[in-house]
Amino acid sequence: MSGWDCEYGFDGTDTDGTKWYRCIVHEELAPSPDAPCAGHQEEPYMPPSTTEEPLVGRTITNIRKMTQKELDAEGWNFTQGFEVVLELDDGGSIYAMQDPEGNGPGVMIHNDTDGRSYYLGAYEL
Ligand SMILES: [Zn+2]
Repeated sequence: MSGWDCEYGFDGTDTDGTKWYRCIVHEELAPSPDAPCAGHQEEPYMPPSTTEEPLVGRTITNIRKMTQKELDAEGWNFTQGFEVVLELDDGGSIYAMQDPEGNGPGVMIHNDTDGRSYYLGAYEL
């Protein structure tokens, strides 16, 4: 299975001999039928979400910076130094990502009861 859904038909040959193919799925010309055409879109990876509330009642037992191993596992080779993990009492953890695909790390904000805001990682962990 190719992993992409293009279907090509031969479109024609340029005056210089270059062959062109037309993807009938995406209505795009392509120089080769052996790769996805320009109209092919990768399905973005989305971690599964939950309709339950697994965090309600959980206790945060530790706050720490992400380890290099955790950063590597996400493929984040750029960091801003405030990637933070909240460890939970059941062994789970929480950390922020910039989007559901995990394209980069994110920041968590703590709003205290006096109306002050801090981003986690602003102080030494
Ligand atoms: Zn296509």
